[in-house]
Amino acid sequence: MTLLFQVTQPSVAIAGRTERFPVHRVYCVGRNYAEHAREMGANPQRDPPFFFMKPADAIVASGAEVAYPPATQNLHYEMELVTAIGKHGAGIPKSQAEAHVWGYAVGIDLTRRDLQLAARDSGRPWDAGKGFDESAPISALHAADALGHPQSGRIWLAVNGDIKQDSDIGKLIWSVPEIIEQLSGLFALQPGDLIYTGTPAGVGPVKPGDRITGGVDGVDTIDVRIVAGSSR
Ligand code: MN
Repeated sequence: MTLLFQVTQPSVAIAGRTERFPVHRVYCVGRNYAEHAREMGANPQRDPPFFFMKPADAIVASGAEVAYPPATQNLHYEMELVTAIGKHGAGIPKSQAEAHVWGYAVGIDLTRRDLQLAARDSGRPWDAGKGFDESAPISALHAADALGHPQSGRIWLAVNGDIKQDSDIGKLIWSVPEIIEQLSGLFALQPGDLIYTGTPAGVGPVKPGDRITGGVDGVDTIDVRIVAGSSR
């Protein structure tokens, strides 16, 4: 087979290894912490989780500069635990979900909040608000073989050193195994899929020049700088 041209395969660094983790799809969970659901004007009942996607090439490595995206006046950070899938599966029961997890990272679900809310309020898709270029910063991945499957741990984010988000991944409304059960009932999960599992309360805006740091205790930290200018 000869391809007309080459397309770059997005990939994520793996802690302590020279191999990289190729990215297939990027799934995200909406409103998965009660206090964040409330701050977005929603009632955090335990309705089934809902999902949206970002393009695989929206990922950006920790340490990078992220260009302030076009067409927004309200770029928001959302600190999240990220789960990486290492084994194919569809219709996965939560009791078997951990066997499909390759490992964990931390990431930021950057959001053009003005576009997302306009889409939400008019019943339109979220893609322009969520799935834009460089919208998915991510740390290195850590294999579950070594890390285990974190059930609790502080999740935090700071802008220019000021703490903005401070919670615990034990407060996820839907746990990682429950997310995998629900998501794999909608889509066949494949090795290389990433799942951003939702953000706690305290989301807010950033502007060019701001430095975003954050992490999940026991997993990793992330550090990106927002800069003026066009993407890529
Ligand atoms: Mn999010």
